[in-house]
Amino acid sequence: MAKKTALADRLDAVREKIAAAAVRAKRDPKEVTLIAVTKTATPEAIREAVSLGVTDLGEGRVQQLIQRASQMVETQSRRKFSENAAPAAKPPVWHMIGHLQRNKVKPLLPLVACIHSIDSLRLAEEIDAAGAKAGKRVNVMMQLNASEEPQKFGVAIGAATHLGESIASMPNLQLVGLMTMAELDAEEKDIRTAFRRTREVFEEMKWQKIGGPAFRHLSMGMSHDYEYAVEEGSTMVRVGTAIFGNETPAAEGESTD
Ligand SMILES: *Cc1c(COP(=O)(O)O)cnc(C)c1O
Repeated sequence: MAKKTALADRLDAVREKIAAAAVRAKRDPKEVTLIAVTKTATPEAIREAVSLGVTDLGEGRVQQLIQRASQMVETQSRRKFSENAAPAAKPPVWHMIGHLQRNKVKPLLPLVACIHSIDSLRLAEEIDAAGAKAGKRVNVMMQLNASEEPQKFGVAIGAATHLGESIASMPNLQLVGLMTMAELDAEEKDIRTAFRRTREVFEEMKWQKIGGPAFRHLSMGMSHDYEYAVEEGSTMVRVGTAIFGNETPAAEGESTD
């Protein structure tokens, strides 16, 4: 056996913590999908993560997602012609998790399994129209601003059910859940409050049968708070730096202030 790499160690640690948090909440760890967020990752690191069994990748920016998804496809097809390559891991699926501008929807559609960041009716309409043209029903989530930070993207709690109903009624969209981001350096109790509020809206929408049986995901939790998120009911955690580290420069457009 080759020596375990730092990335393999970090990935194992994240998986173990997810499983432990699920058990604490009396949940089946299999209910939680790990999305490895590639923002700070090199192409080699992404390939390594996939070879270690990561099935879901996430990106916050359209350009990066397109670039990285095409790099992965190239690797997959090169492997086919290489005799002693390890058996190819199942190709990963991509999630768009960042803010999406309407004019960037079209090139994204063929590449993504799910768009987590619907935060307006107009964006939903744009994706619905693009889905119609592409002959594709697009999996989407509605992003809630559950921490009520004024500068943050996402739908206000009070507006969520209504917008959710509109999204769910669009023929080329499949509403599969809700997404939220807790405040970055908040205390545990405030982080949990944001996750709980999102879950309450989720339960309310389920009770109203909005989105039907496909509406079953809560995309909550990042590197600093995914254990709380799993305890509060998350089914998809979006973890970047805890897996890939943050040695590589942050993507353009991300300020650190
Ligand atoms: C960057 C990002 C993540 C991952 O953040 P880490 O702190 O690196 O785990 C998760 N969700 C969204 C929406 C992001 O933009």
